[in-house]
Amino acid sequence: MQAILIIIPMDTIILKRCSKCGEEVEVNKFRKDKNRKDGLSLWCNLCSKISESNYYKNNKQLVLEKSKLYQQNNKEKIKEQKKEYRKINADVINKYQKEYRNDNKDIIIERKKKYYCANKELIIIKTTTYVKNNRETVNKRQREYRKNNKNKIYRYRKQYIINNKEKYIDRKNKSELKTRTLLTDRYVKVQLRKSGFSDDVINENPELIEIKRLLIKTKRLWKTS
Ligand SMILES: [Zn+2]
Repeated sequence: MQAILIIIPMDTIILKRCSKCGEEVEVNKFRKDKNRKDGLSLWCNLCSKISESNYYKNNKQLVLEKSKLYQQNNKEKIKEQKKEYRKINADVINKYQKEYRNDNKDIIIERKKKYYCANKELIIIKTTTYVKNNRETVNKRQREYRKNNKNKIYRYRKQYIINNKEKYIDRKNKSELKTRTLLTDRYVKVQLRKSGFSDDVINENPELIEIKRLLIKTKRLWKTS
């Protein structure tokens, strides 16, 4: 049997008649459809688009509900897709977000304030729970923040003390009294430092804290008796 060789010139444009508008349209202007013999949709792209937008206009509620249902049933898939999209377009997204934040500083602050006021209790509960469940991460982040913002924190604290002098002194006295009475690790560590132990020595010999605590207790007993 002889093979039949069909030669199609490179610039030949293959046309197909659209069964909606009846026009002869280039085949690359048809969507793919596995169910059809020629692998192409019956309608041309333009007719499909018009039909879809009409359908949306006439069935808005139904389309929205369908889309909502799809989102509900494909949460993981959508999450993955979004993640992938953000990964691929990270540069563009970051740049856009930065610009947006810069151009809308006041609006963003106002919006945040409003949101906070309206959801204060919920936010506090959520934050407390998060901190409780992510102690390590939060501590690490705070340490890093303090390290990178020393001047800012210093200025802020100074201003706070100036604005709340009485409250600050009162709270400081109370807290000192508490740590002194309870002999917390932190308080005992300060006393150890005062006695000439360096942080390295204290951290390498945690039993020093227990010894110092006992010493302080004994000294206090001795003083009161
Ligand atoms: Zn058409």
